[in-house]
Amino acid sequence: MNAKPVKIARLNANQADFDQHLDKLLAWEGVSDKAVNERVEEIIAAVRAKGDAALIEYTARFDALDVASMADLTLDRARLEQALERISSEQRQALEVSAERVRLYHEKQQQPSWRYTEADGTVLGQQITPLDRVGIYVPGGKASYPSSVLMNAIPAKVAGVPEVVMVVPTPRGEINELVLAAACISGIDRVFTLGGAQAVAALAYGTETVPRVDKIVGPGNIYVATAKRAVFGQVGIDMIAGPSEILVICDGQTDPDWIAMDLFSQAEHDEDAQSILLSPDQAFLDAVQASIDRLLGEMERADMMRISLETRGALIKVDSLEHACELSNRIAPEHLELSVADPDALLPQIRHAGAIFMGRFTPEALGDYCAGPNHVLPTSGTARFSSPLGVYDFQKRSSIIFCSPDGASELGKTASVMARGESLTAHARSAEYRIKN
Ligand code: NAD
Repeated sequence: MNAKPVKIARLNANQADFDQHLDKLLAWEGVSDKAVNERVEEIIAAVRAKGDAALIEYTARFDALDVASMADLTLDRARLEQALERISSEQRQALEVSAERVRLYHEKQQQPSWRYTEADGTVLGQQITPLDRVGIYVPGGKASYPSSVLMNAIPAKVAGVPEVVMVVPTPRGEINELVLAAACISGIDRVFTLGGAQAVAALAYGTETVPRVDKIVGPGNIYVATAKRAVFGQVGIDMIAGPSEILVICDGQTDPDWIAMDLFSQAEHDEDAQSILLSPDQAFLDAVQASIDRLLGEMERADMMRISLETRGALIKVDSLEHACELSNRIAPEHLELSVADPDALLPQIRHAGAIFMGRFTPEALGDYCAGPNHVLPTSGTARFSSPLGVYDFQKRSSIIFCSPDGASELGKTASVMARGESLTAHARSAEYRIKN
């Protein structure tokens, strides 16, 4: 038992200095470390200059894995199929159930190309095409994440991306069979056992062995995040993910142990993860504190969780559930649990959240693994302007314009006036050539 009480912040949203407390709680440095930036720039430059040789060198240095050639860092489909055979049937079934649910959900996101025809025969529309090649970064330094493989690869495949390659570091050559099995189930074409900034650089610029991709997706540590930011423009990226966060709004009627465990489920990601509870019921907040104190000692990662809860967690008393929704919109959390009797009544008041978990029986953990929606979500308040990873992240839209002779003549008059207003004579004349006498 971990008897020491957890010193999680206890706040009241009406206290005079609440805004300062909240700002401090939400502050996160992000990817701004100068020394890391310099190291990452160096690694990217080396991969661009020396290609595979740099990858082999960095893999020896950072992942303690010495190899003779890139062939030793490349896994083909046959090796992925072997991994699927090696895992237990229970694990295989869980991965397959999850993959199927993720696939079905994402198929709903597919949007068809569209067009419409105007009276004079002019046709306008949008053609939707998948990216040619996508790279998925799967973290592998301290832990392994087969669920991340599914969540990143399946939407790409549903979008119709012909080639999906994956990189995953295998420190000391320790390969996680579950990760490879998930890659197999998701239809990944090739895996390179590379990690960190060097893997990102290889995907962005290509080497003799690693093909250059059009977009890099997937979470990673500060080296990975910094490298993704640095190569953005050369390739697309999904987002720069910050630490994971959960905000729970509870009416005080859910079992406090359940809520404590939901808060823990974020805190066990890392020390910087954030878990916040909002409730109008003071006695309930006290009960959750008691559950936290009692249950923490049972957790495998109790020490890390304590740091997360004590530095970035909070139990906050609000006036009402409506007040909780207002505060939630200010925070724009990655995960929002509405642990209340009637979540639908609150939903219209929620404007910013990566994923919304409705009701007492919908813990965020189900969304992490197998509910179906994507678990790659906007963090650090970026839900104000961005959305979960989805099929749309692996597609592009091209505008379609077809002018009939009549349409060109009519539009030409408008374009000519506008072009001459901008002093762009060639534009004007190009349009005017098509105006009928
Ligand atoms: P990782 O794969 O991101 O990083 C390992 C790599 O970092 C190594 O291969 C190495 O190349 C590089 N590296 C390590 N130390 C270095 C150094 N001193 N100099 C240069 N490069 C160095 O694995 P990780 O470290 O376990 O981190 C995974 C991260 O991903 C965690 O922060 C975790 O919270 C996050 N994550 C987020 C999500 C999400 O959905 N948001 C999901 C899973 C994991």
